[in-house]
Amino acid sequence: MLDFEQFDFFGLDDLAATFPEFAGHLGGCRYTDYTHTKETDCAVRAAVRAGEIPATRHQSYVALYEILKKKPRWK
Ligand SMILES: [Zn+2]
Repeated sequence: MLDFEQFDFFGLDDLAATFPEFAGHLGGCRYTDYTHTKETDCAVRAAVRAGEIPATRHQSYVALYEILKKKPRWK
């Protein structure tokens, strides 16, 4: 069970950086503003499909993304 309260202190832009599994793949995305949730040529999603990133980790990321997206911006 994830404790979502602990994610209050960072924003949407920092979310991917909190997933160490994504780090080696973020540079492979064509655009730096990719959300890594649904872009068809996203390198993170490609790594999930290739089994390099556990699908459950990406699902957690998408769930958090949806939550953070609805929060007001703090910065
Ligand atoms: Zn991406």
